[in-house]
Amino acid sequence: MFTTAYIGLGSNIGDKEAYLARALCLIADLEGVEIKRQSSLYQTAPWGKIDQADFINQVIEIATELSPLELLHRLQDIEIKLGRRREIHWGPRNIDLDILLYGKEIIDLEELKVPHPYLMQRLFVLIPLAEIDSDLVFPDGSKLEEVLFRLIKSADASDLRKL
Ligand code: ATP
Ligand code: CA
Ligand code: CA
Repeated sequence: MFTTAYIGLGSNIGDKEAYLARALCLIADLEGVEIKRQSSLYQTAPWGKIDQADFINQVIEIATELSPLELLHRLQDIEIKLGRRREIHWGPRNIDLDILLYGKEIIDLEELKVPHPYLMQRLFVLIPLAEIDSDLVFPDGSKLEEVLFRLIKSADASDLRKL
């Protein structure tokens, strides 16, 4: 059985677009994963820890037969393959792959929290997500377009630029 899931990709070291492109190829090569849709690339100001280079972010929709933890582990393999080291929390990284949503599941494990804990607060995730599925409804029943509307009113959308 295939489940629709959304993955957030980010990079802010080196050739950022190349890292995203390589990550996409490696995700496409995973057994039990099909990439269905991909957003544009967005150049975004850093979030949380702001004294670092801009990020490039993207969101993709996949259909997967992998369980949530299997998917997390395959994504972590790809991060390692692309040379990511564990560094400062929210610090610079050449590639970051987060599971944003996995069907309508709510998961609260130490190693995996879905929906992604900061999803509702991050324009750089919600805007690309809306680009690929504007009708999305979160597991708690809230609508993406409403969450986005509220956040855009309170946040600085100039931090984000479509490439
Ligand atoms: P943030 O989670 O705020 O985006 P980050 O991406 O910088 O921060 P990482 O250092 O990449 O955080 O990941 C720390 C840990 O988060 C990982 O080891 C992983 O087990 C855990 N984790 C929990 N939920 C998720 C998720 N939905 N997707 C990816 N990793 C997750
Ligand atoms: Ca992240
Ligand atoms: Ca991460």
